Amino acid sequence: MVANLGTPKSPPALGIPDSAYTVDVRVIDTGTLLHLNPSLFWQPPIDGFTGLHAPIYCFLVSHGNQHVIFDLGVRTDWENYAPKIVSIITATTTVTPGSDVPSVLDGDTSGLGIRSADIGAVIWSHNHFDHVGDVSRFPPTTDLIVGPGVRGASWPGWPTNPDGTVLDSDAEGRVVREVSFEAGLKIGRFDAMDFFGDGSFYLLDAPGHAVGHLCALARTTADEPTFVFMGADACHHPGLLRPSNYLPLPSTTSLNGILTGPSQCPGEILQQLTRPDEPFFTVAPRMFPDHDAAMDTVRKIQELDAADNCLVLIAHDLSLRDKIPLFPETINGWKGSRVKTETRWLFCNDFIPASGHHENERGIEESLVSQTTLEC
Ligand SMILES: [Zn+2]
Repeated sequence: MVANLGTPKSPPALGIPDSAYTVDVRVIDTGTLLHLNPSLFWQPPIDGFTGLHAPIYCFLVSHGNQHVIFDLGVRTDWENYAPKIVSIITATTTVTPGSDVPSVLDGDTSGLGIRSADIGAVIWSHNHFDHVGDVSRFPPTTDLIVGPGVRGASWPGWPTNPDGTVLDSDAEGRVVREVSFEAGLKIGRFDAMDFFGDGSFYLLDAPGHAVGHLCALARTTADEPTFVFMGADACHHPGLLRPSNYLPLPSTTSLNGILTGPSQCPGEILQQLTRPDEPFFTVAPRMFPDHDAAMDTVRKIQELDAADNCLVLIAHDLSLRDKIPLFPETINGWKGSRVKTETRWLFCNDFIPASGHHENERGIEESLVSQTTLEC
């Protein structure tokens, strides 16, 4: 088969203001896994790809001796979430328990010495159960930062509100601050807020999935600026970001070298699943009630994803597990370690029969496999 490869478009300039200030970013993977059902999160379906058990990345962001956490993951005793949320978890997904962010911080023996008591603020990307954790594990001196509209949508929580989705105890006795994007700052095409006031860490307005959904951008080096983008749940699989007209699908030969499944010709299989310059998926209406806003957010991320100096980490990217340095290490040196270029297409293994990256035994339907095998 002749590959119909797209010609890459140059990504637009992001217009990120210069700054000499950086933050240290540490990715915390608590080991908790969440099952993602494709029909809830992305479309169209791909035969054989019935979902995956995904990690939930949280981030410790350190600005000198000021420390904030971006997302807390799932609390270990999730049966103590609001009853409405416990019912939803039970009915719709599977949580494989791990640890939690306070335990990771307080149990660290590396000598880093950043404990839960040292966290000045917890930032919720949004108020869904797999991101809110248990804020009451942090002292009253830890503020809770949320996106626009989240405070009114969340509290009173349970038990004051029998139908509540978060807990009263998440906000009790602490300052809860809503981010404002009214100052007019732009990062790429995102409305942005300069969290520390020095260009080291921005919160970004990323609507579509949930009320007040936030992403974040951390400056990880200054001299040759590099950034880590925390995508949270702006989308739930890298196949919503790639291929794009900035990052077209590589040649079949390249893909056959990158992908690890037992299939002889993964590149050919992938070519049949999408155009070379369009992502495999768009967001699914069920979990993205504002579809237009969500797709606009995804397109904004594609522009960052295409920039050589920006590493995009969405919260549930299984393809990056075991590929990125985790707490207590920082991820600031990501560019030198080539993690971005070497992991960019690994998610495609999810679509290759019996690659081991998804739970389905059957793989893509027989006719497609045999057809592509013949052409290989
Ligand atoms: Zn999530």
